[in-house]
Amino acid sequence: MKIAFIAHDRKKDEMVNFVTAYEDVFQGHEMYSTGTTGQRIMEATSLRIHRFMSGPLGGDQQIGALVAQDELDLIIFLRDPLMAQPHEPDISALLRLCDVYGIPVATNIATAEILVKAIDRGDFAWRDLVHKYKPGIEE
Ligand code: PGA
Repeated sequence: MKIAFIAHDRKKDEMVNFVTAYEDVFQGHEMYSTGTTGQRIMEATSLRIHRFMSGPLGGDQQIGALVAQDELDLIIFLRDPLMAQPHEPDISALLRLCDVYGIPVATNIATAEILVKAIDRGDFAWRDLVHKYKPGIEE
């Protein structure tokens, strides 16, 4: 599965604790993140994560591009509901694309817990078949 992690600054500790707790579940999946979130997770775990730009510098949009190309299966996006973000339009755009393409996205730790248990059960295994048999991107 292809999984992306994004955490706003005041949620980064929560993200690191969450991913550390479920490191064995995430192991073996293809993972992406915004810049600092991925750095923090990699410092705390043995997971390898492809890091995009930092969120305010375009990272959310890069992850959105994966969604638009059907190259992402799930997003854990721990956002800060109590702090205005300079890149709010990018955040809205990413969440919109998740709704357009029906991509599961957790925006708080409670939903993230439910999704990680679903990953562990193999509920999303059919998505690997989508990637395996997907024809090349066409016009
Ligand atoms: P970051 O980006 O992981 O680079 O901090 C996430 C964000 O704050 O939007």
